[in-house]
Amino acid sequence: MSGNTELKKARAGDTRALARLISLVEDSSPRVRDLIKELLPSTGSARIIGLTGSPGVGKSTVTGALIGAYRAAGSRVAVLAVDPTSPFSGGALLGDRVRMQDHALDDQVYIRSMASRGHLGGLAASTPQAIRVLDAAGFELIIIETVGVGQAEVAIASLADSVVVLLAPGMGDAIQAAKAGILEVADLFVVNKADRPDSQQVVRDLRNMIALAHLGPADWKPPIVSTIAMKGEGIDELVGRLDAHWSWLGSSGTLEQRRQARAREEITALAFAALRGRLTVNRLDTLAREVASGRLDPFAAAEELLNTRDGTDTEYG
Ligand code: GDP
Repeated sequence: MSGNTELKKARAGDTRALARLISLVEDSSPRVRDLIKELLPSTGSARIIGLTGSPGVGKSTVTGALIGAYRAAGSRVAVLAVDPTSPFSGGALLGDRVRMQDHALDDQVYIRSMASRGHLGGLAASTPQAIRVLDAAGFELIIIETVGVGQAEVAIASLADSVVVLLAPGMGDAIQAAKAGILEVADLFVVNKADRPDSQQVVRDLRNMIALAHLGPADWKPPIVSTIAMKGEGIDELVGRLDAHWSWLGSSGTLEQRRQARAREEITALAFAALRGRLTVNRLDTLAREVASGRLDPFAAAEELLNTRDGTDTEYG
């Protein structure tokens, strides 16, 4: 199976070919490296929206509504649902979810869940590659949905061009979100379930927290959008705000900066992973003995370690 043939099929709307490519990425297949190299020239045009929030706030409902709105505008839309806590993946989980089923028969919509398989580092490494595959396959909009409001979500949210943090009354997670640093990465806030009487209090709490937090670049102040996703209310405003953010990203040069920052992170992560792989198979134990017994200073030991070449293939991932 050539990555290129599969990619051509995926571009033409062959969902099974696309699923095979994403499985390669998810399984960290040795072929991923060649695949990414092949498809790289076809990437860079997709717009990536990250959506995060605690279970039950309405992420899949909002995502379903967003899919509808962007499909109506003619975009091909892909959703990657990333659950750092779940060992399950493959698409069934999300595909089964009610709100998304509205789009189950639309071949211009692709929904896929990815899971950690107990290894968060793997997910952090494979998600950017899955995004590349979807980008190269011609999806104009990619929504990454993550469950929760913790550090892992912050990391995954940082893969997106626009990060949407979802809150809802009664979830008590505004403060938790603040603690996890999620407020700092948010470009937009959605307070869903605005049909509930206590939702205005969430908006007020959030407004106060934003005022206190010295958030982001001076010229983009994250707006708060109230939605009743279940009824599609507020979704037009959300789309308007997302589009405004997208325009601002382009006109301010922030998009370029963010994508470069992301690339830097990715390169560093790969390089460190390769280095770690080398350390375990190499001379670390010997050097540690020498340093511990005072025969070698740690600076020289570190230098020696960095210079070590053992002739084996570099292991990324
Ligand atoms: P997720 O776990 O964050 O993906 O949340 P879901 O989208 O699955 O929604 C969780 C529950 O909240 C479901 O029962 C939805 O029907 C309900 N829900 C979603 N949006 C709204 C809303 O605007 N108002 C109310 N009252 N319930 C909603």
